[in-house]
Amino acid sequence: MPELPEVETIAASLRPKIVGLTIADVRLLLPKLVRGDAADLLKLRGKRIESVRRRGKMLLVSCEGGVHLLFHLKMTGQFHWTPRRAPVDTHTRLCIAFRGHGRELRFRDVRKFAVLRVLVTDRPLESEALCGLGPEPLETGPAEFSRLLRRRKGRLKSLLLNQAFLAGIGNIYADEILFDAGLHPLRPAGSLTAPEIRRLGASVRKILEGAVAAGGSSIRDYRDADGMDGRFQNAHRVYGRKGEPCVRCGEPVLRRVIGGRSSFHCPRCQKDRA
Ligand SMILES: [Zn+2]
Repeated sequence: MPELPEVETIAASLRPKIVGLTIADVRLLLPKLVRGDAADLLKLRGKRIESVRRRGKMLLVSCEGGVHLLFHLKMTGQFHWTPRRAPVDTHTRLCIAFRGHGRELRFRDVRKFAVLRVLVTDRPLESEALCGLGPEPLETGPAEFSRLLRRRKGRLKSLLLNQAFLAGIGNIYADEILFDAGLHPLRPAGSLTAPEIRRLGASVRKILEGAVAAGGSSIRDYRDADGMDGRFQNAHRVYGRKGEPCVRCGEPVLRRVIGGRSSFHCPRCQKDRA
């Protein structure tokens, strides 16, 4: 599932294409894509797109008049910037056409898990779908990170995946962050020393910034709106590397299931104790 770096990359590739355009028409091809009243999509007609932003793992397209599209891409959601006359592919779930423009934005989703909400509000970030998210990790400084972490009791892997703690980190980056910080995924958050907390906060920023700069990680179906692959998967140091030698110490990388998710770590570099 796309995490912060992938959704950030998608937002950056959509922004120059659609901000400033006026929506002519919206065609919904899969009704279950929309949570809530699909008739709200009609409110988009004639509205100019003002911004494209990411919040956590979600993408927010805001139009004038306080109408917003909030996409959660889930497993296989993708945007395609396609000539209007091109045939519509069977996995396309939504098409947005623009006034006086020869291309349209198509949302494609093979597995049909993606969710779209139409928000009609002047304060989209305070809507029910977004208000429970924790702070953005790249906007959280070291002091704030320490303060947030000290309040938590869970184990590190689960904590990093908890969107109410920090928004946007998923399974891949949680593993990469913990490896970078040299911390075991099952360490209780409350057992970390002050230097370990600082190291973890620094690794969160370093890994996510590196991944954003590389255009995210392409595994499975992630592409940006230009169909480009990200490159960060080449920089993964533990994720998906079960049995391969650790890049730091040579010990084979372990895979174990934590909270139902595959988790990868080095048993020597990430010891299960303080
Ligand atoms: Zn190692």
